[in-house]
Amino acid sequence: MNLRTPINQIKGIGKQKQNCFKKMGIEKVEDLLFYFPRKYINLREIKKISNLKEGEKVTVKGSIIAREEKKGYGKVNYLKVAVSDGTGILYIIFFNQIYLKNVFQIGKTFIFYGKVEFFNKEMEMINPFYEEYEGKKIDWILPVYPLTKGLSQKIIRKTVKHVLKNLTEYPDEILPINRRFALNISNIKHALFNIHFPISEVNLEKARNYLVFREFFIFQLNLFWKKNVERKTEERIYRVDEKIIQEFENLLPFKLTENQKEVMEEIIKDLKNGKLIRRLIYGEVGSGKTIIAIFALWIFGKMGYQGVFLCPTEILAQQHYINWREFLLNQGINVSLLTGKTVEKSKIINEIENSKINVIVGTHAILNEKINFKNLKIVIIDEQHKFGVKQQEILKERSKNIHYILMSATPIPRTLALTIFGNMDFSTLGEIPKGERQVITYMFSKENKEKVYSFIKFLISQNKIGFVITPGIKENENIESVEEKYKELKEKFTDIKIGLLHGRMEKEKQEDVLKKLKNREINLLISTTVIETGIDIPDVSFIVIEQAEKFGLAQLHQLRGRVGRSGEIGYCFLIVYNENEEVNERLSSFIEKESGFDISELDFNLRGPGDLLGTRQHGILPLKIGDIYKDIELLELAKKEVERIFKIDPELKKMSYLKKFIKNE
Ligand code: ADP
Ligand code: MG
Repeated sequence: MNLRTPINQIKGIGKQKQNCFKKMGIEKVEDLLFYFPRKYINLREIKKISNLKEGEKVTVKGSIIAREEKKGYGKVNYLKVAVSDGTGILYIIFFNQIYLKNVFQIGKTFIFYGKVEFFNKEMEMINPFYEEYEGKKIDWILPVYPLTKGLSQKIIRKTVKHVLKNLTEYPDEILPINRRFALNISNIKHALFNIHFPISEVNLEKARNYLVFREFFIFQLNLFWKKNVERKTEERIYRVDEKIIQEFENLLPFKLTENQKEVMEEIIKDLKNGKLIRRLIYGEVGSGKTIIAIFALWIFGKMGYQGVFLCPTEILAQQHYINWREFLLNQGINVSLLTGKTVEKSKIINEIENSKINVIVGTHAILNEKINFKNLKIVIIDEQHKFGVKQQEILKERSKNIHYILMSATPIPRTLALTIFGNMDFSTLGEIPKGERQVITYMFSKENKEKVYSFIKFLISQNKIGFVITPGIKENENIESVEEKYKELKEKFTDIKIGLLHGRMEKEKQEDVLKKLKNREINLLISTTVIETGIDIPDVSFIVIEQAEKFGLAQLHQLRGRVGRSGEIGYCFLIVYNENEEVNERLSSFIEKESGFDISELDFNLRGPGDLLGTRQHGILPLKIGDIYKDIELLELAKKEVERIFKIDPELKKMSYLKKFIKNE
């Protein structure tokens, strides 16, 4: 039996079970080896029967003192076995498994693992795990696998055991023995044996450490390889004028911040070095990322290349287009807007293919159309976290050597960023261009929300504008709908001009409502989180977030980022409908924290990375065993080792065996 042996060639695996295994992604022996237990049952902690408590899951060791077949209601029959360990009697019940009576022979000793229940003053376990106790032969630490319908723990355990016994080759080792020794990690054989059937807790830990390290190592290896190889491939070194940033600034109505200039310098440096740009620019809402994008589009546009500015929403694309069209046109750079709504699509596509257009601002519509770009050189993805990983990569295939700039306002903890975006460079925009921003955040319970409403009434009387955010569009049991809220507040505030905004409205209407808000034709906008995404409304004074407990911290942070950008104090009101300790703690710390990075660490700690990244990026990390949060030390160890390797052997010539761990996508 080798790693490629199909699973159905294993004894006991027929067509039906083969299909079940396939559902779990297991087709060959190797897949099974890397199908890790989800947890373990330690059978060593044996409890005395006299000490058992109802409801607990325990291991008991005892001998069979009696057994009988019973008829229950209907067709149910069961086997009842009495077990004693000298301190008391425990009854074991097996439903519809009368044949087990041959197993539980009187006088034999077994261990049982299961949940203790009381029934008619008797202590019972129903359908527990059991194994005959014959001294050392027991697997004291029992693996528990993720299951699918049609498979049981028993089958998987048996199959894995069979494989481990009959396997004649093992997966290739990632590192030579001296390195593994230096890093204090074991070997693949030890690891695979002990992750499935650990001999001891210590061995289990060693096995897990090895496998986590291995996983991170391969992951980082791929990132570094991509970074090293892919990025070398830009065929030309650009000569960039020393004063180019100055020249650009002179065209703008405002001065660039030092921070913005730094990021521009970083971009230019890549070009001068003939490196493909792979840069993630993180900056809070309002930190002025757009101008960086325009700068890059301008540089390439002036050279006659094409660039794409990809936005997650129609509103955002339109906004960028409207704001920057003239600027670029004045520089001889032709711009087009391409979204799902674009009427003259084929004409525009034609012009792109004939190189009449340099800059295309648009939504995922750009990805959907099969455009043959004439000479696409740069892609900028605004609010990149709103796009799936695959979507972000689509344009890479359309042209050779494309530079990529990703922009994000979702703060990501550094360690996580290194893991996911390890093949990229980072820039941060920290400074807010229009001076210090001050937002005061308050939390109110639902009962006290009238206080909030009367305060915003006051603000509006001062000609201020603001938002009321609700979590949902449509009403459902738990979530107040935006339309309901709109009606409610319209009735309440008869003398205030109120607008409604949500993602299912026509885009023109959305745009229209925002324009009205800007012009003070309305003062209060009831909205869903559509406003979270990058829309530039400069001087909103307050934001009321209804059912704040329904939002993630990163999201709240984005929402809060909408206010107080005019230089005046902004107000953020969190209205909590369902208070509990967890919610209180979470929101209180949100109130205290100001910067996005703090928030991200907080969110990460409280909820884990999945929530932080949003569902879109949830599947981004192909990790089976490693946990980027808990195993951070191993992650760093793996990263260091990969760094070390690439330092001495950047093209993996000496260590060419490592290439087989590199996936070619
Ligand atoms: P982000 O995309 O990072 O959320 P934007 O690029 O939309 O932020 O910028 C927010 C606002 O700040 C815009 O109105 C923009 O014109 C303005 N802005 C950007 N840079 C500067 C600057 N250096 N000085 C003054 N205003 C700026
Ligand atoms: Mg933006």
